[in-house]
Amino acid sequence: MVAEWIFANGKSVGEIREDFPILQTKLTLVDHDDPIDLVYLDTAATAQKPLKVIQAEARYYREQNANIHRALHTLGETATALYEGSRDKVQAFINAEHRHEIIFTRNTTESINLVASSFGRSFGPEDEILLTEMEHHSNLVPWQLLSEQTGCKLKFIPISPGGELELEKLDELLTNKTALVGVVHISNIFGTVNDIEQIISKAHSMDIPVLIDGAQSSPHMAIDVQQLDCDFFAFSSHKLYGPMGIGILYGKEKLLEKMPPYMGGGDMIRSVKLTGSTWNDLPWKFEAGTPNVGGVAGFGAAIDYIKELSFDSICEYENMLTEYARKSLSGIKNIKIYGPSGHRAGVFSFTHNDLHPHDMAQFLDRYGIAVRAGHHCAQPAMRKLKVSSMARASLAFYNTRSEIDFLVEKIIAAGEYFNNGI
Ligand SMILES: *Cc1c(COP(=O)(O)O)cnc(C)c1O
Repeated sequence: MVAEWIFANGKSVGEIREDFPILQTKLTLVDHDDPIDLVYLDTAATAQKPLKVIQAEARYYREQNANIHRALHTLGETATALYEGSRDKVQAFINAEHRHEIIFTRNTTESINLVASSFGRSFGPEDEILLTEMEHHSNLVPWQLLSEQTGCKLKFIPISPGGELELEKLDELLTNKTALVGVVHISNIFGTVNDIEQIISKAHSMDIPVLIDGAQSSPHMAIDVQQLDCDFFAFSSHKLYGPMGIGILYGKEKLLEKMPPYMGGGDMIRSVKLTGSTWNDLPWKFEAGTPNVGGVAGFGAAIDYIKELSFDSICEYENMLTEYARKSLSGIKNIKIYGPSGHRAGVFSFTHNDLHPHDMAQFLDRYGIAVRAGHHCAQPAMRKLKVSSMARASLAFYNTRSEIDFLVEKIIAAGEYFNNGI
């Protein structure tokens, strides 16, 4: 075993775990006498929150609660400064050129719907949208809806049985009809880190804009939207250790300027007459109505927390843990692990020859191990691999090797238990 890992802020993994109240609480299971430890291996569904995030959101409601942008009183100005201050933090976090390129939404799903509804409004039957077969439903269904409305066509970069994009098909799939490319950065089923740099550079050589679904990548690697040169980047606070109900859409200024509003209402207007209105400047043009100010304040605290840990040390630790998990899991008999062996993130979908993923998840839950089971919001990819359901364990920097050892032990026990029962 290597010496104990120390993060950039000088803390060990054990100390990091103490920052997360939920990792200190015990789980009480139905018909179990003693509460047990939580082994949280479902960060790909939502990440746990450090105390600082919880406190920032609570502090907003205790001390700073007021509506933003329109109040002339002190509290309203405090709340506005907090909200707009978080926007500055997000801008720095993903290295956007302008603060007004950061739009707060509810989640990744809403960010993508915004682009589909607004940017996609001018699409017609002659336009094509190029997606991939491994998209999450939230980067698929909005485009299907758009296709129904405008007649635009959807095309897909295929996936290999190993859960990787067949990028050799890219040249023939990109045509002069392609109006947008939409691709997931890190797959929530396979853990594949897609080569979005190659996709963006090929698309841009034909003047085609690219939207990146960064829901799984933003929590695990530093994102620089200027270096990536992507046109849109969508992600969720709740997968990045922040509160639920906050999403982010980054868009290049020149595209956002041209796009019509997504929703109409308060805050997004400049002047309103009964028969028509003019729009506010970016980013407020896309932020109609009262936003989740407390959630945005909490997300600002999540960014501060991540910055303190630093992505360099997060990535190094998570890569080590991912490799350890991949090796340990692939040693288990009767288990199939999906996704590539290299160039991957700590998301492990698996099936067991002898038992259904739901039985597996329920068995593991008896020992406090939280994994996910189901179609993972990516039914087309599952269908392509001819499986209807998988179990999935996903990692974060607060997980440990001993948790992975415990998972492996209990997966083996699940196989034995169900075999003996038959
Ligand atoms: C979770 C996830 C989404 C959707 O995020 P929401 O916060 O539920 O909107 C989209 N894409 C990927 C890859 C995801 O993992």
